[in-house]
Amino acid sequence: AKNELLETNCQLGQATARANEMAVHAEAASRAKSEFLSSMSHEIRTPMNGVIGMTGLLLGTPLTAEQKGYAETVRTSGEALLGIINDILDFSKIEAGKLDLEIVPFDLHAALEDLVELLAVKAREKRLDLLLWYAPDAPREFLGDPGRIRQVVMNLVGNAIKFTNSGHALVEVDSKAVSGGVANIRIAVHDTGIGIPADRQGTLFQKFQQVDSSTTRKYGGTGLGLAISRQLIELMGGTVNLASEVGEGSSFSFEITLRTNPSPVAAQLPAVKLHGVRVLVVDVHPISRLVIVGMCSRWGMRAEEAASGDEALGMVAAAQAAGEPYRLICLDHTMPEMDGAETVRRLREAGRGVGPPMILTTSTDERDDVRRLGAAGCDTCLVKPIRETVLLDGFQRVLGNRESGVTLPMWTQQAPPLSPAPQSKEVPHFAGRRLLLVEDNIVNQKVATALLGKLGCRVDVAANGREALDMAALLPYELIFMDCQMPEMDGYQATGEIRRREGGARRATIIALTAGAMAQDRELCLRAGMDGYLSKPIRMEQLREVLGKYLK
Ligand code: ADP
Repeated sequence: AKNELLETNCQLGQATARANEMAVHAEAASRAKSEFLSSMSHEIRTPMNGVIGMTGLLLGTPLTAEQKGYAETVRTSGEALLGIINDILDFSKIEAGKLDLEIVPFDLHAALEDLVELLAVKAREKRLDLLLWYAPDAPREFLGDPGRIRQVVMNLVGNAIKFTNSGHALVEVDSKAVSGGVANIRIAVHDTGIGIPADRQGTLFQKFQQVDSSTTRKYGGTGLGLAISRQLIELMGGTVNLASEVGEGSSFSFEITLRTNPSPVAAQLPAVKLHGVRVLVVDVHPISRLVIVGMCSRWGMRAEEAASGDEALGMVAAAQAAGEPYRLICLDHTMPEMDGAETVRRLREAGRGVGPPMILTTSTDERDDVRRLGAAGCDTCLVKPIRETVLLDGFQRVLGNRESGVTLPMWTQQAPPLSPAPQSKEVPHFAGRRLLLVEDNIVNQKVATALLGKLGCRVDVAANGREALDMAALLPYELIFMDCQMPEMDGYQATGEIRRREGGARRATIIALTAGAMAQDRELCLRAGMDGYLSKPIRMEQLREVLGKYLK
């Protein structure tokens, strides 16, 4: 019996050793897979940079309508392909357990405002409203992974716009419970779209699932987005939910628990006191009113609502008669029967020129109307979707003007100010600025040089880190765009050497240009001493933003 026991023990020992060996192998295989994916991502993204970048440039040259159509198709196909590559990469990373979530401080409200502003363009093309309602009492500053939360919401809102032909998409955020430094946050995306049959709702969160086979033909897509979203939310310890009715619309939502940031950036204090100020919000859409009223109530204002110009006229007269007039009126321009500008005109008429400041909200494609709006006598005009800071600023500005005695509308004579200020794409803002581009790939050199050239910059090119060091020694470049992977000397080494030579003074701003899409790439760049990070394919808007931020 003792022998048997020894024998078994020995077998057990061998089995354990074998299991350990297999685990090591599996680990190595999984690492190899992840490395393979990362390098494949690099290899595919680099030529894609050439395709998308060059097509963008081509579209900036004189083309016939037919040629323009072809080039646009190349560009959108390129971007779609890039999206698919990113999805597949994400999916493999999640399956391999290689996706690490970041824990950094972020402002959820600001992140969602950015996202809504970005996607509003797409929504407007389909004549849909895209709205954000953030519960006034919900916390905003958290610790977590803003990039991944953004990715999920982006996917849900993207779908909401894609599968909706009229009406709106609404992003709704509220907190269910806040205690002990954590908050339970629910983010829901509602749409008034085509809806999803009950028997298909269960499977959509699995990979490659679409409502039916005609979906791809009609709407495109791969059926990966929701599967990735669900996995990301589950990684964050949350759950996803779907409620939908065919022909009525869909609501996708998720709930996650986030740590609230104990040291948030100090909230800006209103310069002009808004607390207790009585404001009238005029808009036909109840949800649009809700969004503005939500913001007002956060600032302690007393907001009331009107659903039409007529109703507004009545309420203003009644408030006046009751001896408690509105101190501010915020109207949307797009209303049936009596539009915003007309309402303003009539309100001014009824008040014989005096009366509270009025703010008109319009969408970008109503710019032509704006002159007329100016003549109507409103104090300022804001472009939708309205960011909270912009509305706050608008309120403060017009109330501040009134307090300091400026009673005339600010732009009856000149062209009205729009916010954000319309920017002509062609005007080079950075004329004559000299930059260094460090990049070994010829196509990428051409793309980046041409894009920067369009922004008015003069670009010197170095083909690797060593050349970059020589050139930086000759000329003190303010800004260097640095590819990471290069022969001879890579971007990390070159940056390290530049920083060493500066001896702690950090004169040059160094922005990494990398094809890597992995979270750790950014970390590597920052650790090497770079200031920022652009992932390829680089786009005009990103470059413009970086130049605006770093070129004094
Ligand atoms: P994709 O959009 O790339 O096909 P998703 O995983 O994001 O992949 O979505 C899977 C499917 O779920 C879509 O193809 C569509 O049939 C359905 N779907 C997703 N969101 C909506 C929505 N808001 N309204 C209607 N159908 C939707």
